[in-house]
Amino acid sequence: MIIVMKPDASKKDIENVLKTIKDRKLRPHISKGKERMIIGAIGDERNLANVPLTTFAGVEKVLPILSPYKVVSREFRKEDTLIRVGGVTIGGRRIVVMAGPCSIEGREMLMQIGRDVKSSGASVLRGGAYKPRTSPYSFQGMGKEGLEILRAAKRALRMPVVTEIMDTRDIGLMTDYTDIFQVGARNMQNFALLKELGSTNRPILLKRGLSATIKELLMSAEYIASKGNDRIILCERGIRTFETETRNTLDLNAIPVLKKLTHLPVIVDPSHGTGRRDIVATMSLAAVAAGADGIIVEVHQQPEKALSDGEQSLRPDEFKRMVRDIGRVAKAIGRTI
Ligand code: PEP
Ligand code: MN
Repeated sequence: MIIVMKPDASKKDIENVLKTIKDRKLRPHISKGKERMIIGAIGDERNLANVPLTTFAGVEKVLPILSPYKVVSREFRKEDTLIRVGGVTIGGRRIVVMAGPCSIEGREMLMQIGRDVKSSGASVLRGGAYKPRTSPYSFQGMGKEGLEILRAAKRALRMPVVTEIMDTRDIGLMTDYTDIFQVGARNMQNFALLKELGSTNRPILLKRGLSATIKELLMSAEYIASKGNDRIILCERGIRTFETETRNTLDLNAIPVLKKLTHLPVIVDPSHGTGRRDIVATMSLAAVAAGADGIIVEVHQQPEKALSDGEQSLRPDEFKRMVRDIGRVAKAIGRTI
């Protein structure tokens, strides 16, 4: 439930509400609005059933949250959540472009792609060091060495970076290397991982599962947020359908639907969403037109030689043109790049 405090609620009034929530084994979640403080009581609400919170000093009203996800719902917070990371704001008027290779393959390779995508307008560098491959015999990523390379690129290029985490045991290590933890589609319902990441204060890029509904994506976000970390970026990356012309079916419906249901930023991955270089740019423009707050795209100097996902990776010149066109679409809908 949400407890809306009066604009003139005192510190003591607020502390009293927080203590009551904690005493009943729920977790308070504080959200400071422009005029008043809003306190969410997260957990088993039955524990508060007999507590007359509406009569407490400083309390204006108590509202139930009807959706199964609480902290991440629009009911809980009306304003869009802005996530600031390394000088970049995700979720605001500016469309954020994240780009880089599917896998980090070497130092020079990442530096070169990083330089290219930055000069074309990307503000976050992506690159996988631990890769969730369908086959155990496929390239699994460079691991810690890849993380070292990623950090070197981040420092040299002064760009925040995002990379995938697959195992709770890697959280401590990866905290030293990444600005944003990516939870891949295959781990969207790895609840142990989500809970651990919820106890960190790093932004999480949560990708939609291969066959996950929008509600399931939001419930996974709630797992993270319910532990205290609400710096979550949702990512539509295509879902499995009967269609075989594309790797996945990019669910553009998910963008406006998510924007209604949640205050969290929503970005789109047209690389995995299509699996096809020839339509990545078109679908990026469509995603921005549909209200996405950003895109995450795979770029490679020589896609035919890439160790993973070459067929969907853009060449640097294709990426550059795409970003220019995204700028045009952004302008048409009152946003910038
Ligand atoms: C990736 O970003 O390279 C990746 C594996 O993405 P997804 O989890 O969406 O398949
Ligand atoms: Mn990939």
